[in-house]
This record gives sequence, structure tokens and C-alpha cells, in this order.
Amino acid sequence: MNILILGSGGREHALAWAVMQNPKCDKLIVAPGNAGIAMIAECASFDINDGAAVASFVEENAIDFVIIGPEAPLAAGVADDLRAAGVLTFGPSKAAAQLEASKSFTKDICDASGAPTAGYAHFTEAEAAKAYIREQGAPIVVKADGLAAGKGVIVAMDEATALDAIDDMFGGEFGAAGAEVVIEEFMEGEEASWFILCDGENVLPVGTAQDHKRVGDGDTGLNTGGMGAYSPAPVMTDAVIDKAMSEIIKPTVAEMAKRGMPYQGVLYAGFMIKDGQPRLVEYNCRFGDPECQVLMMRLGAQALDLMLATAEGTLDQARVNWADDHAMTVVMAANGYPGAYEKGSVIRGLDALPEDSKNMVFHAGTSEKDGQIVATGGRVLNVTARGDSLKDARDRAYAMINEIDWPEGFNRTDIGWRALS
Ligand code: ATP
Repeated sequence: MNILILGSGGREHALAWAVMQNPKCDKLIVAPGNAGIAMIAECASFDINDGAAVASFVEENAIDFVIIGPEAPLAAGVADDLRAAGVLTFGPSKAAAQLEASKSFTKDICDASGAPTAGYAHFTEAEAAKAYIREQGAPIVVKADGLAAGKGVIVAMDEATALDAIDDMFGGEFGAAGAEVVIEEFMEGEEASWFILCDGENVLPVGTAQDHKRVGDGDTGLNTGGMGAYSPAPVMTDAVIDKAMSEIIKPTVAEMAKRGMPYQGVLYAGFMIKDGQPRLVEYNCRFGDPECQVLMMRLGAQALDLMLATAEGTLDQARVNWADDHAMTVVMAANGYPGAYEKGSVIRGLDALPEDSKNMVFHAGTSEKDGQIVATGGRVLNVTARGDSLKDARDRAYAMINEIDWPEGFNRTDIGWRALS
């Protein structure tokens, strides 16, 4: 079959890598792709957030199946346009993607389904929001309602920080995303992510993971899009998984179906876990980046079969064939990230690295110039390895990093510390 993947990051390189290994894939096109993806698939350029443009590309290129990587096309309703055109599509409708695009929508779903999450209130006026903060006291969490690329959340350890966040949000710092604000109870515990395929009715988990949001070793410094991840996450014990499934995931999927917006795609649930009890922090409506890289490394070729079963509504007959393995990805970023950074530096040493089912360098922000790979983004490479133990995966990921010659880049040296300590 002919397959189209939308997106350009390390997540999409990992999806492309897994899809290409499956004999069902005759031809793969990725739009817009990046330099790493271009080594294994054809890349195309058009506006991936424009449903009509995607649908006409699909028709012209006889595409049989579309996998939507990032949240923006989902929030723009590209999956709806494709399904309306009769195209088999992996990714939720615009209505179902509100689980990521609107925090107050998700809170409402939690209320209706009884899923445990932080207590909350939402506001459209600064004074009422401030009065609520003064009443509740700190620590407290202030969130812009809409999509703000992970930057619209302030975990305020004191009241003044929370009140300042209200001024910033209603002052327009996050544009339309901050027109409504959700204020949440601060939850203590350990965070982990769980990825669950849903075909509207049936669910199939495809792995747990933990990421590292802070830029520096020891979880210090600014927040980023993620500096590394590993799977599985030890904090997601069988008991926690059972509770998360019965108290949070299944009730959510049933509530979405009841509202006439069945969820079809991957549901990425972020949990805070304390004393064996998971509570929902957030939902995202796509694979995490960089978590996708470790999940694809573990799933390999079967990822395509599972995504097809999701789109076709046959997940009740699908099974994951798990190896008893572990995977880790370490992000290499341009010096200065997540602040200002230079683009265009040359990365050397990639050609000599092994690329197989246990070792892969997924490209995130790269392009090819005069036969060389150059950095064009903040997060640039995802050095990923799979092993019999997390330590084995970690040792091989860092051994690959040692071979990469890129003085203009950096990486955290302690990915996995929590699970390995
Ligand atoms: P991202 O996409 O980067 O995960 P987001 O904008 O969707 O961010 P959330 O996931 O809701 O926002 O929050 C970001 C982070 O803030 C969480 O991963 C968690 O560390 C922290 N956080 C959010 N809500 C709470 C809470 N109620 N209590 C404690 N920490 C929280």
C-alpha cells in the first residue's frame, strides 16, 4: 500500500522507520519530512494543516493510508477532511482532538466520566481568577486553556507567581490560547506517560514512557519539548496500569463515544502517580516526541499493522507482540536551546554509526546541504537504542553520541536516571 505520514520531526522519522520495515508498505511519502527521513522515504512539500491540500495530494498520489504525526493538523480537522474523502486515516477528528486542544474540555470529560484528576476551576476574567488563587493559596497551577506548545503552564510554588501568570495570560502572552484559563490543584507524585491506541470503541496499550522536560542534568534549567525518554516506565506497575485503564482510559473513551465524538488514534495520557494511584495530568492526541522514538524502536514493523487496525476499527482483534526489552532516546540539541540558537552547523560522524533494529539516530531538525547534514532546529537528533535492560540501551545510546562530531550541539548526560538509580 501507499502511505503518507504528515510531520517533520524525530517522531515522524521514527514512524517512517517502523512503517518502512513492514512488507505491507509499497511506497512511503512524508510531508514535509527532514534530512533523515529523506534517506528512507520520499519527501513532499505542501501545507499539512490544510485538509483540502492534503486530500488532493492523497488523490493525486494514490495514497491508501495517512498517518497524522503532530497535533496542529488534527486540531485543524485534517483527519475529518480525509475521512470525508473516504481515506483511511490514523488520527482523531477535530472534535475528539479537543482532548489536547482544550484543557477545560478535558476537565469536563473527567468530571462526566469520574476520572481522577486535579481539582480545578476555569475563568475568562482576571479578577475572578485572582480571587480564586488567593482563596486556594499556593502551590497552584495556572494553565492557558488552548494549545501553547507546552509553554502555557505555570506551576506556581507561591501566590505572587500565580497572580503574575494570570496577568500574563489575560494580557495576551499566549494569544487566543490564553483567553480562558484553567487553575488546578497542585498534584504531587511521579509523572509517566502511557500510549493507548483507540479505534473509537476498543483500546490497545502500546507502551509506557517517561521523558525529561528540563534542559539540564539533574532536571535543572528551562523547560523544553523533551530532552530524552525511555520505555517502559517502571513507575507504571501492573497495578497502576490496571487502575489507569479502568478508572481513566476506558471511562474517557466511553464518554467520547457517548458524546458522538469517538476517539480514533493514539491517546497519550500523562499521569501523576502517588502511592500507587494515577491521576490524569493531561491528554495529547498524538504520539509524544521524543517518546514515539522509543515506542517505535520497541514495536518495529508491527506498528503499521496496529495503526491500520486502529483506523479500520479492528483493534479488538489486534495484539502487541512484546519483546522483553527496553529503549532509550537521547536528544541532541543546538547550543542555546531552548533559548536562541544558531542554525546551519555541520554534523559529522553519522555515516559510521550502526543503523539496525537496536540502534538508530532519528533526525528531528536537520536538512541536507552540499552533501552534508546540517542542524536546522532546536532539537536536532534523537539518538535511540534498544536493549535487554535499560542500562544496556543507555550505554549504547551514549556510545553512539560519543561518535557524533557536532561541537555546536549538546545533550543531557543523565537520561533515565530515575529508573536506573
Ligand atoms: P506539554 O505538552 O509540554 O506536556 P501542556 O501545555 O499540555 O504541556 P500539561 O501537561 O497540562 O501542559 O502540564 C505541563 C507540566 O506541568 C506537566 O507535565 C507537569 O509536570 C506540570 N503540571 C501540570 N499540571 C499539574 C498539576 N496539577 N500539578 C502538578 N504539576 C502539574
